[in-house]
Amino acid sequence: MKTAVYPGSFDPITNGHLDIINRSLRIFDRLVVAVLENKDKNPLFSTQERVAQLKEITKDMGNVEVRSFSGLLVDFCESVDSKIIIRGLRGVTDFSYEFQMALTNRSMDNDIETLFVSADTQYLFFSSSMVKEVAHFGGNIDNMVPPSVKEALKKKFPNLV
Ligand code: ADP
Repeated sequence: MKTAVYPGSFDPITNGHLDIINRSLRIFDRLVVAVLENKDKNPLFSTQERVAQLKEITKDMGNVEVRSFSGLLVDFCESVDSKIIIRGLRGVTDFSYEFQMALTNRSMDNDIETLFVSADTQYLFFSSSMVKEVAHFGGNIDNMVPPSVKEALKKKFPNLV
């Protein structure tokens, strides 16, 4: 059984993330979505909230597991018996950081492969930070996030309807 790991902050999950998950599931038998416990990034949603949101959204998707992790990603991959890391690319601006991360992870474990997946063009410009900014000012985020995430954002941003 081929397992891949899709790590990220998912603060919050967007339709771009969901598209990457769906595309990865066409390639791998099992996908572990790994929510980073990014303490110093001051996330809007707690790790527990982000894991719960992702579990709810992916519950009918088949072989998706949602876990949280801290520490080295290569150690997390080992713990779920995977050598494959999935990352999304939105364009050249993502590339230099992602490439550096991929090579750093491989320097720690030569068997690790990072695969880059691009989302459908309609989702390509979505990012969690942009969603939060639009939501903060009460803009329309209906096409950017799943309905359950919009409901969660409404509780954080009173301007959002
Ligand atoms: P991180 O803090 O690790 O970048 P994110 O939740 O922002 O976590 O993103 C997780 C992964 O999903 C990253 O590889 C990012 O490039 C990718 N990603 C996020 N949004 C999109 C999108 N709209 N299209 C393609 N990839 C995306």
